[in-house]
Formats: sequence, structure tokens, C-alpha cells
Amino acid sequence: MVQFVAGLKGTMSEAELHVLRARLIGGMLNKARRGELQCRIPIGFVYDATGRVVLDPDQQVQQTIRVFLETFRRTGSATATVKRFREEGLAFPRRYWHGPRKGDVVWGPLDHPRTLFVLHHPRYAGAFVYGRTHHRKLDRKYRKRPQEEWIALVHDAHPAYISWEQFEEHQTMLRENAAVHGHDRRRSPPREGPALLQGLVICGKCGLRMTVRYRHAHGTLFPIYMCQREGIQHGHALCQHITGTSIDDTIGALVIDAVSPLALEVSLGVQQELHARLDEGDALRRKAIERAQYDADLARQRFMRVDPNNRLVADSLEADWNEKLRQLTEAQDRYRQQHDADCAALTEEQRQRILALAHDVPRLWHDPATPVRERKRMLRLIIEDVTLLKGKELVMHVRFRGGATRTLTVPRPAPAWALRRTNPEVVAEIDRLLDEYTDVEIARVLNERGFQSKAGKPVDIMMVARVREHYHLTPRYERLRDRGLLTLDEVSQALGISTATAKQWRLAGLLRAHAYNDKNQYLYERPGPDAPARYTWKGITRWKRQRRSQSDPSHEVQCEA
Ligand SMILES: [Zn+2]
Repeated sequence: MVQFVAGLKGTMSEAELHVLRARLIGGMLNKARRGELQCRIPIGFVYDATGRVVLDPDQQVQQTIRVFLETFRRTGSATATVKRFREEGLAFPRRYWHGPRKGDVVWGPLDHPRTLFVLHHPRYAGAFVYGRTHHRKLDRKYRKRPQEEWIALVHDAHPAYISWEQFEEHQTMLRENAAVHGHDRRRSPPREGPALLQGLVICGKCGLRMTVRYRHAHGTLFPIYMCQREGIQHGHALCQHITGTSIDDTIGALVIDAVSPLALEVSLGVQQELHARLDEGDALRRKAIERAQYDADLARQRFMRVDPNNRLVADSLEADWNEKLRQLTEAQDRYRQQHDADCAALTEEQRQRILALAHDVPRLWHDPATPVRERKRMLRLIIEDVTLLKGKELVMHVRFRGGATRTLTVPRPAPAWALRRTNPEVVAEIDRLLDEYTDVEIARVLNERGFQSKAGKPVDIMMVARVREHYHLTPRYERLRDRGLLTLDEVSQALGISTATAKQWRLAGLLRAHAYNDKNQYLYERPGPDAPARYTWKGITRWKRQRRSQSDPSHEVQCEA
């Protein structure tokens, strides 16, 4: 009975606990829905004395987050943001949430996960948010919820670094960047590779994004725009594929046309941006010095104030002071280095470039020193997308940013093989040389005469073979046969010798032969009246020769053929 009551009590208290817990969670959720729940806030915000969320009063933290967000807006990619921070030697703040230094801010290099964390966090847009993820007991994993399932989203709950519109723009940019690797390749950021329209082309037949393939020929990459997703997914034939060289040229001309009047404006904007960016970084690094100076001063004061007799404390404070001084020197060095680099980069090359840009966008566009990536970025400032449709002619619908459209018609681009066309002079020369030489020899002769491939490389056997086949030049074998040359079998039959003997005779110079390839295969000249006869060559064994000379010495040099 006692046991039963005790058991009942246990059950009761468990039930009670459950109710209590539910009420607690309910209360918490209600608080969350009102945006009043105090939870861990990301770096850049703090709770003030009254428990309200405010921007971190630490100016260095604040400035860094602003620079971070601006860098992302400018580059449009999280990876590029990380790269900029690293290149400019900028540190990013982080707060300890556990341990003895709980609450302290530490500075370190910015990494990709942290970048995404900040960019995806609605708090930076001033929104209180709760329940973005949910914990599945089943596999003990946190899963992201879509925005419409968040438990609470309260706009304008506290001061912000960006507006909600900007935040949503950022989410779209991140989604688009991610989608480049995913299901549908939306408009994608510029990547390496010379195809100007990479990420901007839409198939005029089916409306899907087209991808880029490159064909490598003569040391150059030729872009080919392909619509192949449906084909790959459902096993159909390719929708359409178009050689891109002429398209890229046309677009290039269009861009120059569209940009020229704007050139000054664009370049001035660029210059301003460059200056602003350098100033921002400079100010941040100067702040870092001030902070280090302040810390060092503080450490010095602490050391001065301690009773010298208290050795233990004095020693540790002195060590601390030294450490702070080291950090100060480091910060100063970093500042000086980066400052010098900034000045050098701007005075020497960039300033010249920017000034030139102001006058001459077309020149910059055509300048081989301009990286393709930059050209693509310029293009993206102007063009939204291009729809391609290959019919009798190639139709290009160009959609400019801002909504204007333009339709261009260009002749159908030549197929890819035509791009590999060799100089007719070289083809004629190879045709002539085939009468006398094999491929390897032809390559040697052409190189001796100073011929080069289109890519400026020496002529090689592959190129000779390709040209020979592509232009259906009469093979050397046929040419030699036409001239009446005999095969190995024919010549050995005519002389009544074995093929092995014929080969030996050729090697010894007794038979005249011409190689018809580079595999040691020959055609033989018809043996004339002075052709060698069997047994006159030392192929005959000594005892046979001796026996013969004994029986009939006059036969020794007789011709048998
Ligand atoms: Zn298509």
C-alpha cells in the first residue's frame, strides 16, 4: 500500500512536471511571439541595462559588420566577401558563449560558415525571430524551417544594420548563387572561362537555362552554349547547341555601344567605390590600433598599481602587459603594411587604369590584359539575359537591366570543326611534301621552313595527320603505288627471295625503298637489270658458298634473277 502510494505520488509529480514544463514553454513561446524573449543575439548587438537589444556600442564591432555587409552587396558572393577580408587583413569579431571568458569578444579571420550565418540572420535587419530551426528527436539533428513556419518573426523589433528589403535581397542573391550548382541554373555569378554569356543564356526553344561547354583547339577555348538538361534528364537528344564565338563578339559590340555615353559616370562610380573601400578598411585597422593601445595602457596601469612585494601578481601582470604591447606592435605593423599596399596599388596601376577607363571603355573591353571575369562583370551591369534561337539564322533577344530589349540576327555560326581550319598555304605544302616524305618528316621540314600552327606552336605529327585526313589528301601509300612501287611481298616474289631477305637487302642498300609511314613500312622500287641476285649477298652460309665454289667456281657471281 505504502509502495502504491509512493508510486502514485511519483506519477503525480511526473504529470505535474509535464504540465509545468508545457506552461513554461507556452509562456516562453508567447514571449517569443511578442518578440520579448531574451535569447542569444548575434555579434553586433548587445542587451542594454533594461534588457533591450541595441547595436554593440563598440565602434570597431559595428564598423566591421557594416563593412562586411557592404562587401557582400558589392561582390554578390559570400566566398568573395571572405576573400576580401582575408586579402585586406581585416578581422571579424566573435563572442565567447561559454568558459571563463564568457561574454568576451575575440577577433579572428572571417570564414565561410560565419559569413553565411551573419547573412542569413534576420536580426541584422532588426527582426526578432524565433524557431527558425527545429530539433528532431529522431535523428538528433537541427533542421531549417521555411520562413512561413517560423514561430515568431517580428519586424523592426530593434535597431538594425540593414533594412528588411536588403535582407531579402541578400537571401535571393545567396539562393541564386547556390542554385548555380543545383536544379535550375539561374542567372549565375561570373566564373572563370572565356564564354562571356556564361550564366546569362536562355534557350529560345524550351526556355531553360543554357550551359557552357568549351572546346579546346589550337590552344584556344571556344565556347559552345548548350541546352542539354532535358536531354540528359529524360534521355532526349540535345535541344540545341550553338558555337559561341560570334555571339560573344556581337554582344561585345553591343555592350560597347551601350556603355560609351555612360563611361564617365561608371568609372567615376568605380573610383569612388575604390576610395571608399580603402578608407573603410583603413579606419577599421586604425581602430584596432587604438584598441590595442588602450589595452596596453590598461595593462601598464594595472602593473604599476600592484604592490611590488606581491611577486606572483606582479609577474603575471607584467607578462600581460608585455603580451598587450606585442599585440599593439602587431596591429601597427599590419596597419602600416596594408596602408602601404593600398597607396601603392592606387597610385601606380589602378589610378592609371581608372583614368583610362573614364575615357575609354571600349579600349578596356578589348584590352587583352583585362581579365575575362571583369569583362563578364561589366556585361552583367548592363545585360539581364540573352535568349538564343538557332534557325536559318541565329536570333538573339537581349534583355537589358531595366527592361529594355533588343533583337539581333546574326548568320549562323560556323560549326566547331570549321574553327580548326588550317591555313590553305600549309595544306598545299603538306600535299606537295607527301610525295617525298612521311608525316614525321613533313613536320620536321615545315618547322625548318618556319611554319607554325595557328596557336603559334611548332608543327607536330598530329597536326600533319589531322590535316591530311581532314582535307582528304591522297595518302602517301597510294602515291607511291601509283608510281609503280612494289610491296614487300611483290618485290620478294619478283626476286625469288624471302621477305626477310628483302628487308635485309633494303637495309644493306641493295634494294631501293621508300617509307610510306613512320612505322618502318616501305614500298620498293622495281628491281632493274642491275638488281642483286640471290646468293651474292652474304646471307648465304659460308659452307654453302664454299661447296658451290668447289663444284663450279664460275657460278660464284652469277645472277640468278
Ligand atoms: Zn532548350
